[in-house]
Amino acid sequence: MPELSVPELLELDRAHVWHPYGPMPGRQEPLVVGSAGGVRLRLADGSGELVDGMSSWWSAIHGYNHPVLNEAVHDQLGRMSHVMFGGLTHEPAVRLAKMLVDLSPPGLEHVFLADSGSVSVEVAVKMCLQYWRSLGRPGKRRLLTWRGGYHGDTWQPMSVCDPEGGMHRLWSGVLPEQVFAGAPPAGYEEEYAEELRSLIERHADDLAAVIVEPVVQGAGGMRFHSPAYLRVLREACDAHDVLLVFDEIATGFGRTGALFAAEHAAVTPDVMCVGKALTGGYLTMAATLCTARVADGISRGEVPVLAHGPTFMGNPLAAAVACASIELLLGQDWLAEVKRIETGLREGLAPAADLPGVRDVRVLGAIGVVQLDREVDMGAATRAAVREGVWLRPFRDLVYTMPPYVTGDADVARIARAVCAAVREG
Ligand code: PMP
Repeated sequence: MPELSVPELLELDRAHVWHPYGPMPGRQEPLVVGSAGGVRLRLADGSGELVDGMSSWWSAIHGYNHPVLNEAVHDQLGRMSHVMFGGLTHEPAVRLAKMLVDLSPPGLEHVFLADSGSVSVEVAVKMCLQYWRSLGRPGKRRLLTWRGGYHGDTWQPMSVCDPEGGMHRLWSGVLPEQVFAGAPPAGYEEEYAEELRSLIERHADDLAAVIVEPVVQGAGGMRFHSPAYLRVLREACDAHDVLLVFDEIATGFGRTGALFAAEHAAVTPDVMCVGKALTGGYLTMAATLCTARVADGISRGEVPVLAHGPTFMGNPLAAAVACASIELLLGQDWLAEVKRIETGLREGLAPAADLPGVRDVRVLGAIGVVQLDREVDMGAATRAAVREGVWLRPFRDLVYTMPPYVTGDADVARIARAVCAAVREG
């Protein structure tokens, strides 16, 4: 096929390609990216570069086209790009599993290498339901979560997304019915903690697990909450025989200023999902970790195996680049970099608080959020950011950024200016 011009690409894209949550009514024409390097996306029409304020949805923490990550992929490519994982194993997967066990909160020992974040949540739910089945308590099959969350777009994850958030409203009555607490307040409120405790107690006979995003609720509303709620959940789950699942897909690998957000509360969940930044955004891979208690429980059941095995499970290229990405992260003072971005975002976003229609400005680690008192005009807000030379993806009432950790100070300031411009014009 000859190289396509940008207009030809756009025409074919319009005709044939589904985009996330597409096609959107009156959607913006997508921008065509020709290449990417460092924190910059280069537009294929030659019109310039954009600083990526989104890290490709939280994943590209080291930026694009990184020599160390490129080398890891090339090196692995020369050995083996893929091999089935059933009955076979290989060094990249084993090394990655060991690294994840060593880094994650103590007690998580077994690793399932899934091929996307949503699948890792499906596997987490399956692990929990199967655990109770194995123990002769099949009635424990519901999940409790709090409103405002987001856990992915496949079936079980959709059932624990915010039912009122609009995203998965279409499926109400069809999805499994779960138990919802209110969205967690930002600061610690004993009344809310009590609501969590009493819901867990009341539904304990039906509950397999509580599943939450620790400290930051991402795609469901970019809300931050007190880590103390994680301890409340741990205690209530222990008291009432309920498993605890942390979805660290967005928060994992340093984004909130801790390697995993669970560390803010020093709590170990029974099951933990990671994804997105796992491979530095290079390849699609996620993982579900669980404790020996969960794994042993499953292996004592009537069906003593975890019956899940995607074709691309443990993909060697993805595992090799994940190992390299984790080594790259840990080989530097990553916390200082995240804190530097936090300071830059705090300073740069402060003026947003005085803009009309702004309800809240919040920053945690390498995450900056401006919340409005209205729905943002996505097209106008995106155009305003692009004019400032920055790529953002505003949604609902939010204009936000989670840049790569390698974003320099001048580019952090530029991203903050673009967020303000998007708020003014969107
Ligand atoms: N959980 C959380 C917290 C997420 O932010 C996401 C992705 N936005 C997912 C699960 C789903 O991951 P994926 O898009 O890789 O399926």
